[in-house]
Amino acid sequence: MLINDEVIKILEDCIDLAPTHNPPNILGIKACQALMPNTPMVAVFDTAFHHTMPKSSYIYAIPYEYYEKYGIRRYGFHGTSHKYVSERAAKMLNIDIKDLKIITCHLGNGASVSAIDGGRCVDTSMGFTPLEGVVMGTRSGGIDPAILEYIMTHENLTIEEMLNILNKKSGVFGISGVSSDFRDLEEAAQAGNERAQLALDIFAKKIKGFIGSYLAELDGADVIVFTAGIGENAIGMRAKICSNMENLGIKLDPERNNVRGEETIISAADSKVKILLVPTNEELMIARDTVAVIEAAK
Ligand code: AMP
Repeated sequence: MLINDEVIKILEDCIDLAPTHNPPNILGIKACQALMPNTPMVAVFDTAFHHTMPKSSYIYAIPYEYYEKYGIRRYGFHGTSHKYVSERAAKMLNIDIKDLKIITCHLGNGASVSAIDGGRCVDTSMGFTPLEGVVMGTRSGGIDPAILEYIMTHENLTIEEMLNILNKKSGVFGISGVSSDFRDLEEAAQAGNERAQLALDIFAKKIKGFIGSYLAELDGADVIVFTAGIGENAIGMRAKICSNMENLGIKLDPERNNVRGEETIISAADSKVKILLVPTNEELMIARDTVAVIEAAK
């Protein structure tokens, strides 16, 4: 969106929905406005790409009034990245994105998986906040919400302390007690650390779970894309996620998979689903969106 006073007001009104991100962004916008009053500015939202999701993907099964009163719904995040890598995947295969069903796996310290049908996002694993979905570096991903009450009571914690644990002390870090960094986890697992191995096993299983869910939702997929720090670099983790899915038409080529940070096809020649490695480039996507918004406003 082209930034004007109304957009800034909306960003301010949404601070309680995005308390970590909106205040510093508003500060940056205002500082730039003061320094460059005649330069148009554009806000690119990480949730925008997920706005095409149908209601059946974003409404929670809690009383509907909370959606109406407070906007409690699934928003999804990493949209800029999911959009960029899905567009690159279509270009790499030289197929119109409108004709492709794509599952994008953005696996970094924060991780999310999206289902994209004909270039439009139809589902994504993150929700109201980035805490939902797969297991991440330090975030729990989806858990039974009743666990919160149990731990808070037994450990005498406030809700802030509990949320801090779910955001900063959980995930593969919480399981392993070693690190949130997959390089450390792989090293520890190789040295025989069982909890580090368990963290890697659980991470892979959760990603597989979302891939399976989206295969069902899309009635099969043409492409699976891996991106972000883990997706681009963790050769063993990609192999682990894609293992034992040949019946679903997913077959990695171990030689082709032996690569980091390059745009390339890593599936076997006889894999029904093409598996692609696409380094993400959120800055480029933001720049492109900015040009599009400025051009449209002319
Ligand atoms: P991101 O949030 O996209 O910058 O991803 C950061 C994460 O990527 C790190 O915490 C690591 O877990 C992972 N990562 C980066 N490089 C490697 C690598 N060479 N092998 C395995 N994991 C890696």
